[in-house]
Amino acid sequence: MALIVQKFGGTSVGTVERIEQVAEKVKKFREGGDDIVVVVSAMSGETNRLIDLAKQISDQPVPRELDVMVSTGEQVTIALLAMALIKRGVPAVSYTGNQVRILTDSAHTKARILQIDGQRIQRDIKAGRVVVVAGFQGVDEKGNITTLGRGGSDTTGVALAAALKADECQIYTDVDGVYTTDPRVVAKAQRLDKITFEEMLEMASLGSKVLQIRAVEFAGKYSVPLRVLHSFQEGPGTLITLDEEESMEQPIISGIAFNRDEAKLTIRGVPDTPGVAFKILGPISAANVEVDMIVQNVAHDNTTDFTFTVHRNDYNNALQVLQGIAAEMGAREVIGDTDIAKVSIVGVGMRSHAGVASRMFEALAKENINIQMISTSEIKVSVVIEEKYLELAVRALHTAFELDAPAGNTAE
Ligand code: ADP
Ligand code: ASP
Ligand code: MG
Repeated sequence: MALIVQKFGGTSVGTVERIEQVAEKVKKFREGGDDIVVVVSAMSGETNRLIDLAKQISDQPVPRELDVMVSTGEQVTIALLAMALIKRGVPAVSYTGNQVRILTDSAHTKARILQIDGQRIQRDIKAGRVVVVAGFQGVDEKGNITTLGRGGSDTTGVALAAALKADECQIYTDVDGVYTTDPRVVAKAQRLDKITFEEMLEMASLGSKVLQIRAVEFAGKYSVPLRVLHSFQEGPGTLITLDEEESMEQPIISGIAFNRDEAKLTIRGVPDTPGVAFKILGPISAANVEVDMIVQNVAHDNTTDFTFTVHRNDYNNALQVLQGIAAEMGAREVIGDTDIAKVSIVGVGMRSHAGVASRMFEALAKENINIQMISTSEIKVSVVIEEKYLELAVRALHTAFELDAPAGNTAE
């Protein structure tokens, strides 16, 4: 008999009918003899609806109160699923994050899980109950409700699986696994049987929202066997594996990730003297803005142009800070651009293959797509391009790295 943690995402519990379907599925697993802990998200669209409501009161809602509100989405779905299970004769009980005691830090809207008390859940499992836990939420040591950041129910699932020493954590969603890239953008994307934690971490951090990055971090750290599956279609899904060997037969590139969440800022004509990067990025970081990519170029006249990207939500804030810095340093001008996108190729195979980056640049050049910024690490190459070319770039790279599915073998 195995203990399985099953997480169902927003679209999988998006209507009462779907919740009934999830209950049927959980019932079948129970009948197969497994112990089940279920983690659910809010109904799809609900978290956005709640955030919109808050924004009608204030542009920047007080984070503590926002958490009190957005956590209600998951409270609805846990109760509905528990009811649907009980209706089917499956003993079940639902708990909020606070009731389980999923202890987090106090960083409202992006809290980190510190500890999970598994006792109450273990008692219910022993008593033969399916335990349904609210994803995305926790409680800090003072008893304040916290949330874990968008997509955070994945993290609740994996963290619970680690705390309960579950045999597997299954992430059920609206696609049947992790694909070479988002199958909604590239119809020829292919499902991967396996992907390494390292690659999945890069994919998640570079924009593939199929798994929240912290969920992957947790799974890697605590060696939680993790699988992504379709909620309502049978299939093996994708296993996230520690074992790089097993993936050796995959192509050099495992996947392509992209994100439209960044904005670019440039400060031009800054004196090229020691400490310049610190003078620019010090105040940016003091304003709590995280910087992603950075490029610095020195001109003939011994001035430098300094460009960096930030999350689009931080753009206005960063622009204001940068204008202040420019005035202080006597810089020529500050330029901002929100119409950018980042495209990244990811694969452990890059370690043993040269020329991967140039193959990427060649594919983009053939489509006449200008590269504005580049950054590389051992297993990824990222470029910033104009946002309107994003889909074209992803498709071109997918073909160039021979990731396209054979005809007739595409998703959905
Ligand atoms: P859930 O509500 O179940 O958590 P999400 O919307 O958060 O679901 O994540 C699933 C979505 O992730 C898919 O519908 C798909 O469009 C998107 N996605 C992005 N990149 C990938 C990828 N590489 N493989 C699979 N899905 C991806
Ligand atoms: N409901 C939350 C969100 O929409 C958490 C989740 O779905 O994982 O971000
Ligand atoms: Mg999600």
